[in-house]
Amino acid sequence: MTYDLHPALPATPTPKDYSRIHFDPAALPAKRIVGLLACQRDPLLRTLTRRVVAAHPAPDVPLAQKGRDRKKATPSSSAAPSGAATPTGALWEVELEDTVIFPEGGGQPWDTGVLRVADANGGTHAFTIEACVRRGLDAVHRVRVPPGSAVDFAALPGLEASVEVDWERRLDHMVTHTAQHLLSAVLDRRELPTLSWGMGQHPSTEAPYVELPRGLTWPEAEAVEAECNAHIREQLRVWIDVTVQGEGVRDDERAGDVEREERGIPKDYTGGVIRHCNITGVDRNACCGTQCPDLSYVSFLHVLPPSTPHAATQPSSSTPTRLYFVAGPRAIAHLASASRELSRAGQAVNVGRADVYERVARIEANRFEQAEAAKAMKGELARLVASAAAAKDGAIVTLHRAERATHDFDFLSAVAGAFCDARPDATLVLTSAVAPPALLLVQSKDADKAKAVFERLKTLLAGEDKARVKGGGARGRYMAKVDGKWAKGDGAAVEQVVQELA
Ligand SMILES: [Zn+2]
Repeated sequence: MTYDLHPALPATPTPKDYSRIHFDPAALPAKRIVGLLACQRDPLLRTLTRRVVAAHPAPDVPLAQKGRDRKKATPSSSAAPSGAATPTGALWEVELEDTVIFPEGGGQPWDTGVLRVADANGGTHAFTIEACVRRGLDAVHRVRVPPGSAVDFAALPGLEASVEVDWERRLDHMVTHTAQHLLSAVLDRRELPTLSWGMGQHPSTEAPYVELPRGLTWPEAEAVEAECNAHIREQLRVWIDVTVQGEGVRDDERAGDVEREERGIPKDYTGGVIRHCNITGVDRNACCGTQCPDLSYVSFLHVLPPSTPHAATQPSSSTPTRLYFVAGPRAIAHLASASRELSRAGQAVNVGRADVYERVARIEANRFEQAEAAKAMKGELARLVASAAAAKDGAIVTLHRAERATHDFDFLSAVAGAFCDARPDATLVLTSAVAPPALLLVQSKDADKAKAVFERLKTLLAGEDKARVKGGGARGRYMAKVDGKWAKGDGAAVEQVVQELA
């Protein structure tokens, strides 16, 4: 049998048996623990008025959103969408008897929303709920209180306040979470267990992912997508079984659940409840998130065709691989953005959308061919330049170039190598100047000579500015970059070294 919790929540289209409590809750305290919050009992409930039980200034530590992009999370990125002005005012932590604000968990980001309270004169004041976190069994709202607020937050405990969830954000997170359960269940049938999953928080249009033991081929991805969408069209019911943590549902069929369920539970969550999310005939999984009451809310699920090389035909082998998907409102935003990008790509390469792939593939093949041809020509040019230099007299031969196409150490090294093979008796001083920095290369089969020439040149080119010449070398080969404009004086310095050391 199942039990009702009192007080009852305001009615919504969520079916009455969505949340099935399998223990007698008579002894539960009035304050709802995480696992039995209003947002978890009725995912469609958007506002709720309940008493405040605690309010105190928030400790001055930024919160990092768990799960995806954890490393990149900063106070501004976790609290407010990028581009929003940095909020001013004090941050308070507020706990209520119950709430429609989900405090993140199970991969689902926290809700944001509005807290409304009355002042002493009966006026209503609204405050932004920037985040909500779970601490042990408690949901803690982080509320921004602007300077000069008429409401004394320290006096809130005992008074009523109403909370309203930012619905667009919640719907995006919730639909994606339900879609993830559905996708993971369909993948499970193919012996592809979900190792982890992640989603960027709203308003990101980035595709969420499930991590699998291997990559999928395109036909596999298409089959998985089709199966998910068939279930969505069936509008399968979703419901939650709630049991006391550690007890499980007394049912032989589910004997393994107790052990399995404890694996995914955060260590600081004890003495609470365990929630199993069920999709009729498809899935049953421990989950703390807010889940859509049926699959019609998901509307549509798209599995992104894996873009790793060869994935079109061959499954990538044994390394864990992310399979990206989009569902619900995020699928629309994501696919609209992908469609715009396709049009832009078509404009960039001057063809209609349908021909973009073919055109880009051909451009890439041409680019590769031309790069190979340029490489071959540069090699041949290097040998010609080297043999012209080798024909010059002198123990130190200088060569200055001012060509953008050959202004790189690869080309200069090829020239120097060919030169030294032709003139083992001589030292080559090679300079190239286009835009700063200029390049300098000194090479010789006589290692001592090369070193002496390079060191002297370095001194002369640097002059007063010791940091102007950066580089070095060994065994007869020295390379450096010379900052600033290559001036007449620099050419004169090269000639001076020839006079001194030749
Ligand atoms: Zn879940």
